[in-house]
Amino acid sequence: SNNNNNHPQFKSGVNNADNKFDDSFVRRKKIEQQRRSLPIASVEKRLVEEVRKNDTLIIVGETGSGKTTQLPQYLYNGGFCQNGGIIGITQPRRVAAVTVAKRVAEECGVELGQKVGYSIRFEDMTSTSTKIKYMTDGLLLREALLDPKLSKYSVIVVDEAHERTVQTDVLLGLLKGVQKKRTQSSIGSSNSYDHMKKGNNEKERFNEAGKLNPLKLIIMSASLDARGFSEYFGGAKAVHVMGRQFPVDILYTAQPETDCLDAALVTIFQIHLEEGPGDILVFLSGQEEIESIEGLVRENLKKLPEANQKLLIFPLFSSLPSEKQMKVFTPAPVGFRKVILATNIAETSVTIPGVKYVIDPGLVKVRSYSPDSGIESLIVVKTSKAQALQRSGRAGREGPGKCFRLYPESRFEGLDDSTVPEIKRCNLSNVILQLSALGVDDIIGFDFMEKPDRMAVIRSLELLYLLGALTDEKKLSDPIGQQMARLPLEPNDSKALILASQFDCLEEMLIVVSMLSVESIFYVPRDKLEESRTVIKSFSSPEGDHLTLLNVYRASVEFLEKNKTENGSDKAEKNLRKWCKDNFINSRSLKHARDIYNQIRENVERMGLKISSCGDDTLQLRRCLAASYFLNAALKQPDGTYRVLANGQIAEIHPTSVLRRTKAECIIFYNLVQTTRNYVRNVTRIDYLWLAELAPQCYALKDDKS
Ligand code: ADP
Ligand code: MG
Repeated sequence: SNNNNNHPQFKSGVNNADNKFDDSFVRRKKIEQQRRSLPIASVEKRLVEEVRKNDTLIIVGETGSGKTTQLPQYLYNGGFCQNGGIIGITQPRRVAAVTVAKRVAEECGVELGQKVGYSIRFEDMTSTSTKIKYMTDGLLLREALLDPKLSKYSVIVVDEAHERTVQTDVLLGLLKGVQKKRTQSSIGSSNSYDHMKKGNNEKERFNEAGKLNPLKLIIMSASLDARGFSEYFGGAKAVHVMGRQFPVDILYTAQPETDCLDAALVTIFQIHLEEGPGDILVFLSGQEEIESIEGLVRENLKKLPEANQKLLIFPLFSSLPSEKQMKVFTPAPVGFRKVILATNIAETSVTIPGVKYVIDPGLVKVRSYSPDSGIESLIVVKTSKAQALQRSGRAGREGPGKCFRLYPESRFEGLDDSTVPEIKRCNLSNVILQLSALGVDDIIGFDFMEKPDRMAVIRSLELLYLLGALTDEKKLSDPIGQQMARLPLEPNDSKALILASQFDCLEEMLIVVSMLSVESIFYVPRDKLEESRTVIKSFSSPEGDHLTLLNVYRASVEFLEKNKTENGSDKAEKNLRKWCKDNFINSRSLKHARDIYNQIRENVERMGLKISSCGDDTLQLRRCLAASYFLNAALKQPDGTYRVLANGQIAEIHPTSVLRRTKAECIIFYNLVQTTRNYVRNVTRIDYLWLAELAPQCYALKDDKS
């Protein structure tokens, strides 16, 4: 940090968007005052008291009331870390875990990673002195693998429980069990849970009597209905934190919009040019949409008279580098307006001060799984009423606001009341793998708040068998299943890495899997489509998108290394960003992919997998892809569309694919995306005969059926 706390630097006049020179004393005073004025501040004592009295407590409160940032501090000050245990707070989203941890560290006046830290997949910002630890729900599940009693925690707060992500639901069930075990256990019986070999021996937290301290469990939710959670936790007490909400004017369009992006763009400028001061928050479905609107806003802004150009654009999505994520909280300088382009991260997970106008196209991207096909896809669907209300509520936190819903009022009435929990609409193989690793073999019998669909469980189990992760007794196979459970990836990707070490192409597969973990590597502004084609072509491989991604990664590393020796590290990174821009590559995504690569490389090294390279022999890599993603194989039809072999579904190759025109006979794909049509994305050419050879468990028998 470039803030030297011992020597406050004073400066006068101009309000600077970059707070580097802000007087830290003034800033601390301001933060203190902000904290005191939060609705939750008035019930601090009562909350601490309730946690003391109840082992399980449900806290319900309006978004922005201060639950996430304040409660952990109250508990810390209330002595809940005195027994040596720490406070863990889970979030469904990485962005929330990171930004909130940074904020709380600042509120506490400590360096991030010391008393206050965060831990998310591929990034750990904690130390042995961390007492308040924000993390994703998925990460706590992984910790449970190494420490089934989560013994280092004295309190676990499951935040944003209303989101009902699949990881949250699994976690709730697991924590219920952990709580029971912790109350029963003492040193003498502490080995009864030790059904799996522990990687490292976490010291358990015992009180003077030698008993592990009980686990305090707090479920926090923004939905006002606490009944479901309360019932699930045996009638646990629920407390409500009152929020403060100003009236929000809701405006609807007269007609349904055909082009939501365009409608959002027009509305942004309408607000910017016609409405009074206040920031704009726009809800978009993902990184790609956000970046394309970002480009459009910039273009249009340039065309305005200079006096009207005072609009600052802030994207907010999960794979945004974390320095960039924090920028969104910086207040706009006087005379400027902010427009925040966010995914539904901004719906309840993070609250950005200053928002007065909300633009809600009424859509959200979700996971969707059909047990019939056994394939998961990402689809954009209408929000529920509850989500629409949350979104409009964001406009009325600091004063009266306006919400522009980009759909007619009649549509609102037809929306579902609330969102279906994710566990009802996703592929469960990852959950099953994780629970098996925790010793839970009977998924159907697991104490879920809401049971997953039986068919979905069966299909997901089937997939794990096909991947060789489970034995006939539904136990994790050794070593494949065990290794897959240890990797922080989807089962298919884990399998690809494990197989790649046998196919002598793990080096390449690490790159491919990392590149596939980020949303979009190429970024092409609308007005540069033609130009971009020629440039992108220089990376493209006739074999498909996986190899193209590999080429991009290799070219970027080569560029970076060469530049580093010539110009030093910092300059090289800067030059790389320029290189990315020239090559229509999304430098944010590429950077993220590089981080992921480093992490999973470390993971597989620790597991002892052999990392070797196939060099230019890409045949090996493609065979390995076929052997891992065999369920996602498709055959060309006479009309040029593709038929997914596993279920007969018909799809087209996505326009961004390098195989869009060449039309290979047989392909494997990474994602299935459903918009108005079915698209397969990230596609590679394979030989049909490889399927029977490399995935006989799936294709040898089915051959005569097709
Ligand atoms: P809740 O969890 O009840 O929705 P939060 O604890 O997330 O509420 O937010 C409380 C307040 O803290 C809000 O006013 C929000 O704007 C503010 N806040 C949170 N993170 C930051 C940040 N990084 N910078 C500035 N303010 C923040
Ligand atoms: Mg919160």
